[in-house]
Amino acid sequence: MEKFTRLRERLGHIADVQAAQAVLSWDQETYMPAGGGEARAHQLATLGRLGHEMLTDDEIGTLLEAAAAEVAGLDPDSDETRIVQVTRRDRDKAVRVPASLVSDLARATALAQQAWAQARTQNDFASFRPHLERVLELTLQKAEALGYEESPYDALLDEYEPDMKASEVTAVFTHLRAELVPLVEAIAERPALDDACLRRDFSTAAQWAFGEAVIADFGFDFERGRQDRSAHPFSTNFATTDVRITTRVVENFLPSALFGTLHEAGHAMYEQGVDRGLDRTGLAAGTSLGIHESQSRLWENLVGRSEPFWEHYYPKLQGEFPDQLGAIDRAAFHRAVNRVEPSLIRVEADEITYNLHVMIRFELELELVAGTLAVADLPAAWNAKYEEALGLTPPTDADGVLQDIHWSFGLIGYFPTYTLGNLVSVQLFNQAAQDLGDLEGQIGNGEFAPLRAWLQEHVHRHGRKFSAQELLQRITGGGLDAEPWLDYARGKFGALYGI
Ligand code: ZN
Repeated sequence: MEKFTRLRERLGHIADVQAAQAVLSWDQETYMPAGGGEARAHQLATLGRLGHEMLTDDEIGTLLEAAAAEVAGLDPDSDETRIVQVTRRDRDKAVRVPASLVSDLARATALAQQAWAQARTQNDFASFRPHLERVLELTLQKAEALGYEESPYDALLDEYEPDMKASEVTAVFTHLRAELVPLVEAIAERPALDDACLRRDFSTAAQWAFGEAVIADFGFDFERGRQDRSAHPFSTNFATTDVRITTRVVENFLPSALFGTLHEAGHAMYEQGVDRGLDRTGLAAGTSLGIHESQSRLWENLVGRSEPFWEHYYPKLQGEFPDQLGAIDRAAFHRAVNRVEPSLIRVEADEITYNLHVMIRFELELELVAGTLAVADLPAAWNAKYEEALGLTPPTDADGVLQDIHWSFGLIGYFPTYTLGNLVSVQLFNQAAQDLGDLEGQIGNGEFAPLRAWLQEHVHRHGRKFSAQELLQRITGGGLDAEPWLDYARGKFGALYGI
């Protein structure tokens, strides 16, 4: 195993460079003074190039071949075999994209992000348009370089949801949408749920402390993680022993910080739960964005917006905020945090309509990639889809096509993973409930250790050893399925809305 050992040393160095890059990115979003932006862009670009050069280096290629021969006799599911297999996949992809395209994309997306921020503030899509055209053109070149069987979209989707095809997403989304639209319509015909109790003044310090107490109960390890503030919540990790989350606190809207914290802690516990044996390899991370999102949504929605959860926590929350919530009963509070309402902004959407926002973006991306929709026509196409799916037309492009940062980063093929995560979260939760017995009772008692341990055993510890499909197959005996989520949604919201 001499070559394998040498390969691991080299992978350790690459992981170190990538971790340093992640630390600088985290700092940029949390503590860096505004003046540091230009210097930070250089630092990040240099580390990015260095990591890419180290992975595509010929010596890694030679070591990979030799290590593959060394591990050939081992269990195909052993760490060693999977480290060789997944690293090979990553390296093959990295080698296929020319260095000139990597740097062209880095430059174009850096400019596009700045243009997007300004265009959004000034509600000026025309100023963003040439940047998005350039990013799209380069992203399509990247898809060609990476290669694909059916559609260039597959090559892009593969960056976030390995081995999944656009046609598979289309099939799942078509079924989901056909069932979702009547549910949204039925909800719209019922009286709206009152969420005024969430819009009172809640001290930011008390909100912060409450959220951290809940995730400590969930099993987020503050010895190996911390939470800070940022404009947009995110999670990142530098090692399984150092995982960071951020949140934002809105004084007069309770759900922002609380559910943001639960969501990001779900991502973070996945990273904290990866087997230490995979440390300092490319496998010490979540296996796909869909599986990652399944973890955040599971803790945020299936646990955090459930009745048993509030049986346990509502008295504590009332204790923290007696003036604001003392006269609101638990059932009313539970209804408030589950209010469904078609809206224009994806990140503020409820559990149900959120998926329609995702589908709209996916459909538009497919057309942009196929060349059947021009960037110039994107705002009109966006607005038409919102009217059709949600019955709303954005009054401005800032509330419409300019709301998300993703496309300015070149993140095309990313959006579907949000809904895939919602679907998978229910598949996993159902299996956990079957294996653990009285999961609802455990949640109602504030006992999260069994659920956390189940996820650790079946999902977290494997890191990237198994693909999303392999994980689902191992856990549920089947593949991705929208039906469990639909059953959950019909059951929960049917009861809440009296449908
Ligand atoms: Zn997330």
